[in-house]
Amino acid sequence: MGNYHKVKVNNKLVIVCTLGTMENMYYIRRDEAYIVRAFDADPAIKLLLMDVSIIWRFRWPDEDIAIDYQNQNAFKESYQKIVDAVGKRNPRSLIFNILDSSFHNGFSNDHEANCIKQNRLKLLGDRYSAISGTRTIFSCLSCNKLYAFSQTEIELVIKPSILSLTEYPRDFLEKVVERIKPYHGV
Ligand SMILES: [Zn+2]
Repeated sequence: MGNYHKVKVNNKLVIVCTLGTMENMYYIRRDEAYIVRAFDADPAIKLLLMDVSIIWRFRWPDEDIAIDYQNQNAFKESYQKIVDAVGKRNPRSLIFNILDSSFHNGFSNDHEANCIKQNRLKLLGDRYSAISGTRTIFSCLSCNKLYAFSQTEIELVIKPSILSLTEYPRDFLEKVVERIKPYHGV
């Protein structure tokens, strides 16, 4: 089961691109889904946008698409760019080691008790709610539990840990860490 962007052609629903698999939208960003919604033939995207549990594709810096709202033609071109890009994407994440071992205290007590290793995280994507806005979601590679972090935790531990990765270009990583959102307002 997956989620798809569908349009109506000759009264038939046609799948244009995959948005996600199961409950997570790992192919499309929330801001992109907002644009695609205007062209979608069924109300699925509208419902997805309201669901606070959904993890959207992280705003990877090398995937930015310029969206032009100026007029209808420009808007349609932007929509087409999004559809083309989403159609070529694969689920993507960033795995890193937590550098500061004392950081385990920053995890929940529940996690402390249930996870033995707690030293590797995966950047999964973004969740959104009207109250708290966007927050970046990580999973523990050992126990698969999901986490979002405070601004302090991000600054002190998450950012330096990600910037220490050597398999990605430095300027890419710097843009990634700038886009990580905390679990409450800044
Ligand atoms: Zn864990």
